[in-house]
Amino acid sequence: MKLKDWLKQIGRAPKTQRVVPPISDADVIGLIRYLETHELDCEQVFDALDRFAEIEVRHEDAAKLMPLVRDHLDMCRDCCDEHDALLNVLEKQDKQEP
Ligand SMILES: [Zn+2]
Repeated sequence: MKLKDWLKQIGRAPKTQRVVPPISDADVIGLIRYLETHELDCEQVFDALDRFAEIEVRHEDAAKLMPLVRDHLDMCRDCCDEHDALLNVLEKQDKQEP
């Protein structure tokens, strides 16, 4: 299983039925390396989230411009919820403006 898929599985599963798939020590080490080199933490994502959402509201390719944020949103349910809420607000604002 690819690390990204593994993370997705954990991040996306509803809390009640969250089952951590089996993972070997080597995978854990790989995971840590992956996170160190590729991953933003929630705080960094949170800081970048309004910019990310603004790009999306403008219908530009936010995933291409900020791939690390996109990756994190795919894996982290909390940030994903935050992002959805923010996007909602921005879209409403957008519609109100002429
Ligand atoms: Zn997060």
